[in-house]
Amino acid sequence: MLFNNNSISISFSVNQFQCKYMNVDVWNEVDSENKIIIEYESTCATDAVRCPYCGKAVQGHGTATTALKDMPIWFGIEQEAVVTYHRYQCTECRRVFSEYIDFKHPGVRITERAVNWIKSFLRLGLSVKSISEITGIHWNTIRHLHEEVIKEKLDEREKFLKALGYKPRLLAIDEFAIHKGHTYATTVMDLETGDVLWVGKGRTIEDFQHFFEDVDPERLSDVEAVAMDMNASYNKVVRENLPDAQIVYDRYHMQAQYGKDVLGVVRLNEARQHKEEANRIIREDVPAADRKEKASLKQEARAERQLYSKLKKSRWILLRNSDNLSDNAQLYLEEILLSHEDLATCYAMKEEMCELFEITDPAAARERWEKWFSAALESCIEPLMKFARLKKDRIEGLVAHATYPISTGKLEGLNNKIKVAKRLGYGFRNDAYFFSLIRFLSIPPL
Ligand SMILES: [Zn+2]
Repeated sequence: MLFNNNSISISFSVNQFQCKYMNVDVWNEVDSENKIIIEYESTCATDAVRCPYCGKAVQGHGTATTALKDMPIWFGIEQEAVVTYHRYQCTECRRVFSEYIDFKHPGVRITERAVNWIKSFLRLGLSVKSISEITGIHWNTIRHLHEEVIKEKLDEREKFLKALGYKPRLLAIDEFAIHKGHTYATTVMDLETGDVLWVGKGRTIEDFQHFFEDVDPERLSDVEAVAMDMNASYNKVVRENLPDAQIVYDRYHMQAQYGKDVLGVVRLNEARQHKEEANRIIREDVPAADRKEKASLKQEARAERQLYSKLKKSRWILLRNSDNLSDNAQLYLEEILLSHEDLATCYAMKEEMCELFEITDPAAARERWEKWFSAALESCIEPLMKFARLKKDRIEGLVAHATYPISTGKLEGLNNKIKVAKRLGYGFRNDAYFFSLIRFLSIPPL
């Protein structure tokens, strides 16, 4: 085809719709819309049409026109199919209806041809935004098609699992922040397949109760253990709905909380004491003549300040797994622990806690946890005692880890997928879309 002027004559048709002409505005400098419009007109004979409601003959009821977004022939030039179609009225039931345009995709003003292209782009993992840029089609239309792609894939997965008689055994529940931390959502994952079974808004007991309303109880009848954060309120709901399942408290949440509430607090308390000590020494009243005494006090104050800054810098070294420390970090740690007894105790308790999560015999685990809690309660270190008081009633869920060494770690790995979901789902302010996108991304490759 040659484009020498604004309008060219081409000849093709799509079923009953005959292409009249193609209107090319692109090269018209005066009135450039940067758009290619292909006009179609129906050639369907009225006597070939039957009423969709009662099957009787129809009569013409005028025409109407619709503009459908189309896949561009030329990159960067928007394309539209403007279709003139018939309206009919039934001679019997008198109902009025429109001629069916079979190359229009249902629910959106877009051609089926464009939909096929866009869906294949989506399946290849292109973002909604990129596809919008390539096609010139509004991102909201593409998002709508993305929902269709997601639904098709989720339905297909569901069918596949159903045929297998699938029932999850080990679950993990966790929350994640959406909308920059203002609101939360709860996810449930099958730890063996990696499928996210459910995503729901909120993180309260009431919010989580919806999981048991949305998922067929029969499907959950084989669940043996559920991993979760001890601090969340999921345990009550799980106990009520899955009385035979064991609750396993997540070791990583527990360790992180210990790091923050015990190691963190003790470390800062001790650091603060060094700072106060340094200030006290400086303020000490020494006669100006006693130069020797003054110099020694100055040195003492400097040593206190050094200890202060050393403690301030030790946060990550204290939290990290001791097996992963470099030789230098190991020395640094030993130096700090040598001069700070409380911190050394809490650090040793942390190391022991990590070991307790490695035990695979429930009886041994129970004995060791009981000992750990007693030692913590008798430590006279207030943050450690407080931690133990809050956690000791949850010992069943800690001992259960010996039988079911599961965690919510795999769900946290999903956070990267959620980031991908946010990027792919440009303008994802729609929660239902976002949640099913997360489930879609969790489907394991076959
Ligand atoms: Zn009729």
